[in-house]
Amino acid sequence: MLLLHPKDIACRQAVELITDYLEGTLSRRDRRRLEFHLRGCPNCSAYLEQIRTTIRVSGSIQADDLTSEARQELVDIYRRWKSE
Ligand SMILES: [Zn+2]
Repeated sequence: MLLLHPKDIACRQAVELITDYLEGTLSRRDRRRLEFHLRGCPNCSAYLEQIRTTIRVSGSIQADDLTSEARQELVDIYRRWKSE
């Protein structure tokens, strides 16, 4: 179990919420929480942009397209950004 700074936990939660955010399935409350986090966090904003670009390139994104491996890959990319 990794020990994470509270800020990182917020980012991890944001990353998990972004897919639902893009699918429009977030509750209004979670949506507001995520948008608030994105405004203050360039890393998560960049991550969101990355996924938006992927969606533009591939035409669409389905829940089935985001396998757990793909999701993990995105989280790994995100972690690399964080460590730079
Ligand atoms: Zn963040």
